Amino acid sequence: MKPLTKVLIANRGEIALRVHRACQEMGIKTVAVHSTADASAMHVRLADESVCIGPPPARESYLNMAAILSAAHITGAEAIHPGYGFLSENADFAEMVEAHGLAFIGPKPEHIRTMGDKIAAKDTMRRLGVPLVPGSAGALASVEEAFAVAKEIGYPVLIKAAAGGGGRGMKVARAEEQLEEAYRTARGEAKAAFGNDEVYLEKYLDRPRHIEMQVLSDAHGNVVHFGERDCSLQRRHQKLVEEAGSPALTAAERDALGERVTAALRGMGYRNAGTLEFLWQDGQFCFIEMNTRLQVEHPVTEMVCGVDLVREQIRVAAGETLGYDQSAITFSGHAIECRITAEDPDTFAPSPGKVTTFHAPGGLGVRVDSALYSGYSVPPHYDSLVAKLVVHGATREQAIARMRRCLSEMVVDGIKTTIPLHQRIMADPEFAKGDYTIHWLERFVAKS
Ligand code: ADP
Repeated sequence: MKPLTKVLIANRGEIALRVHRACQEMGIKTVAVHSTADASAMHVRLADESVCIGPPPARESYLNMAAILSAAHITGAEAIHPGYGFLSENADFAEMVEAHGLAFIGPKPEHIRTMGDKIAAKDTMRRLGVPLVPGSAGALASVEEAFAVAKEIGYPVLIKAAAGGGGRGMKVARAEEQLEEAYRTARGEAKAAFGNDEVYLEKYLDRPRHIEMQVLSDAHGNVVHFGERDCSLQRRHQKLVEEAGSPALTAAERDALGERVTAALRGMGYRNAGTLEFLWQDGQFCFIEMNTRLQVEHPVTEMVCGVDLVREQIRVAAGETLGYDQSAITFSGHAIECRITAEDPDTFAPSPGKVTTFHAPGGLGVRVDSALYSGYSVPPHYDSLVAKLVVHGATREQAIARMRRCLSEMVVDGIKTTIPLHQRIMADPEFAKGDYTIHWLERFVAKS
């Protein structure tokens, strides 16, 4: 296969910039696509070429497969990078891209499809020897079956949507009398959000951490992992702060999980980047889902491993071999990412609008992934993430001190952002101890 010379980036915002930057450094030309609302966005300004693909609503632009494929043909792009969100986990899109003779910078369509169905994903991982959260063997056929499984594994239990994502279609039943309602609301939410009301049941873990493993495979059977990220700091099952490595894990535990995960992916014949998500409680890892794409929080891994994951994605999509093995991957220091969104830091109400002044912090060990600039208007149509502030330090303590310094330097005037919330988290003594679970942040937000 020839190296790629032109890539279309089917996304917007900071992740479109992130992909553009990797392409530029590799000598690859970029094509941006954009809605009419994003005509003056930074990803459009920096790209070598750009194509308008539709009006502001995402379903008519960033989710418009025909328009994106046409843009690739018109501009002569040889590959498409989907970023995260939008079409990144759409197996039909990946298939269409390949059917048009283009490279999809991501996994094989069949793996996207399997992992997009959480029941099929759990089945696959069970067969490959990866430990799971205890629960129903597959989809629940009836509420009676839910009662039977819950009785066997014990309350509390969680009803989850097979097609779930973004924390939707998930309902807890703490005791038997709550199960029927949880089952019905989870199905209703899943039907409304995903057009698929298939649900399954899991033991609800009361104090787990969310720990995930970054993996990468080439098309020649080479698989490596880049260690773990701790993403336990969540609100409504959505991540706000991520760390690499996890404050709770030993190097031996990381190696053991890494070996298991890479063996499983080798067994699957997986290709490109992916993340296996686990809940970790009492020293046990339980698989919950796999994301078949680059993740928002990938920079913390890049900071501790010194790797450019997007570059690696592009290389393996072009058919190159990894060219290194697990022993070449080392972990240095500690990294933290704060997701800064255009939201009220107390009520979380969206706060789109014009950014009058934007000033990014800098200095040693600091990375800001953001498409903001002074005078830019954050449109109301898309995700509220406006900046990822990422820091690296020799130790976790140094990384926290650096993050505090950066948050105080950062200026985003004209809109509300979650910077003040991140400042409170970084100043908290419990956070400093690293002793938290997935429920910690909800309580912290409620009391502060
Ligand atoms: P989604 O795809 O909607 O993000 P996930 O399966 O990845 O759903 O779960 C998101 C979050 O929900 C997890 O990080 C965790 O905080 C919580 N969660 C999921 N499954 C369980 C469980 N069995 N017990 C407790 N919390 C859970």
